[in-house]
Amino acid sequence: MDITNKKISIVGAVRSGIGAAKLAKKLGAVPFVSDNAAKEKLAEQIFVLEKEGIAYEYGGHTEKIYDCDFIITSPGVPTDSPVLKTAAERKIKIISEVEFASWFCKGGIISITGTNGKTTVTSLMTHTLNECGVKTYSAGNIGNAFSEIVLDVKENEYVSLETSSFQLDFTDKFKPRFSLILNVTPDHLDRYNNSFDEYTASKIKIAANQNEDDFFVYNADDQHTFQTMKNSRVQKISFSQTKEVAVGAYVKNHKMFFSWFGSVEEVCPVSSLFIKGEHNAANALAVLSVVKTLNMPNKKIREAFGSFNGVEHRIEFVRELNGVEYYNDSKATNVDSVWYALRSFDKPLYLILGGKDKGNNYDQILELVQKNVKKIYAIGSSAKKVYDYFNSIVDTEIKNSLEECVQSANKEAKSGSVLLLSPACASFDMFDNYEHRGKVFKQAVNDL
Ligand code: ADP
Repeated sequence: MDITNKKISIVGAVRSGIGAAKLAKKLGAVPFVSDNAAKEKLAEQIFVLEKEGIAYEYGGHTEKIYDCDFIITSPGVPTDSPVLKTAAERKIKIISEVEFASWFCKGGIISITGTNGKTTVTSLMTHTLNECGVKTYSAGNIGNAFSEIVLDVKENEYVSLETSSFQLDFTDKFKPRFSLILNVTPDHLDRYNNSFDEYTASKIKIAANQNEDDFFVYNADDQHTFQTMKNSRVQKISFSQTKEVAVGAYVKNHKMFFSWFGSVEEVCPVSSLFIKGEHNAANALAVLSVVKTLNMPNKKIREAFGSFNGVEHRIEFVRELNGVEYYNDSKATNVDSVWYALRSFDKPLYLILGGKDKGNNYDQILELVQKNVKKIYAIGSSAKKVYDYFNSIVDTEIKNSLEECVQSANKEAKSGSVLLLSPACASFDMFDNYEHRGKVFKQAVNDL
């Protein structure tokens, strides 16, 4: 794709927007970055743009943004924002940064989407392929913008790309070698007119341009996805924790198997995975589906699964003190993730719940809480909601801070139990983001 001298407007001076602008400049195009935030908020970005000699504006979008060949939009910009609406009315093509970077990728793209588990699968994929001797980069929502690394990727190499539905909303020619939909559960529905079908459709876009040379990996335990893909020509591979699949990976008798049209191999026991929980076994199956299709050796895969320590803030072990284990699952920002976290432990739990509520319905975890949770500490702007829901079922107490929760647990929890921060809510009521929340928690635990 030749973009020399093309005028490219980029909405949003975020990490991916800056990455796209730099890539565009490197390839001889003329990028222009526009953000509606105030100058003070963009100091870091402006520094980079000035250094790179890239034109920009801040504090709003002017007419200049529409004077272009196409627009690259960033994940934070709502689909129905005035700037995108106007661009669409003027028939200006709008694409995402992932779409843009993919035009220049010589290696294979392994694109990973789903409601939960994207970051874990993206990292485990990269780790496993690298351990098997196949150079692989992690990119996308996980940290590095795809645009930042795409020119480094050689023909026989791979990019494990964490791809949110926000990015898929604006794809056009995006054609991964492997596309993965890990699971589809209701989260971010607000962005899709509260329509589950619309939300699923946005994820299915991941495979829209794939053909019979490519692979689509789906969760056979998730009804929704396969139904929508039935008629596509792409080669379909599935994974399941409940049944044997003919093409793909599954668990049977605590072991992981890979079947290729009925020819079955035992790859490794589930216990070779260092990361905890049934959901992580599902994540590992998703990875297996890809790496076995690429013929990677079982011994290497097993070693890679054993040496992968997980990703920070996802059921992350922090410390043991007086026989009590402390776990940080700050990334659990919806009820579904908490359900999986609760199933990952067979010890009595002290659970920290609450934060900025996203319309949570706690019915899904009620039974698990009744069974395994000794006490709930409720925090944040939804503390009262958490208290009202759980108080009659389990000992529940409202706390003002994570430090208070940790100190109380240190006094109250008996040896052999677990304190788990798995809040089911966003963090913005008390913290900058979930990473900040996780770090504050870990600090409090380490201060004990
Ligand atoms: P994402 O990048 O999709 O947000 P992460 O890997 O960061 O996913 O995990 C987010 C949260 O979801 C964590 O609390 C984690 O424990 C939980 N989780 C991870 N994998 C799964 C899965 N396959 N199903 C459900 N929950 C999961």
